[in-house]
Amino acid sequence: MTDAPEVKNRAHQLVEAARQLFAAGVMSHSGHANLSVRLDADRFLLTPGFVRDLEPHHLATVSLDGQVLEGELRSVSAEIITMHSVVYRARPHVGAIIHTHSPAATAFAVAHRPLPCRTEPMLRFGQPEDVPVVPWGPRGSDVSVRGIADVLEGRPTTSAALLANHGLLVFGPDAAAAAHLVVAIEESAEAEIAAAAIGGAVDFPEGALEAVRASIARVSS
Ligand SMILES: [Zn+2]
Repeated sequence: MTDAPEVKNRAHQLVEAARQLFAAGVMSHSGHANLSVRLDADRFLLTPGFVRDLEPHHLATVSLDGQVLEGELRSVSAEIITMHSVVYRARPHVGAIIHTHSPAATAFAVAHRPLPCRTEPMLRFGQPEDVPVVPWGPRGSDVSVRGIADVLEGRPTTSAALLANHGLLVFGPDAAAAAHLVVAIEESAEAEIAAAAIGGAVDFPEGALEAVRASIARVSS
């Protein structure tokens, strides 16, 4: 990884986001995840195949067409480059991507159930709509990557997708925003499952998003 100040800065943001995911308790037992931050139109920084005890110098610089330009990736990580690059290609304004096996969100992915937006954090932190499910394909395969591209095309405002029989994929303007959304989605999935035992979760009333936006505008003006 080069030492240009902006690259260094983004590497630190990525490492901090990984730390926040562990601190928030949204990781699966294996601690499996991969995170990336965009550097420019053609390159991004990617975790090397582990995220526990991650440090900036562990990150690899990768091109959107799949070449490792700097640093090293474990062989398993080569498969996940396309899972990230397909999102960067589809969404020019996305600055960071996080993939986890967060347990409650993964329960929805395993059940092939879209996760509805029925909690305030999810509404506020970038996903005021349900999280769609991408059909299963082996990780990094053409089927999987095409499935992600199709869902992103069909759902132009979603900031997350559930990967069927696999896990969660979240993206945002930067690593901190994406990490916040992972936590909000995992909390929402937990709440949905818990609410199912007491009669089921209930939708927001009509106009909830507009009300939240007005409330945020009042506070920040
Ligand atoms: Zn995975």
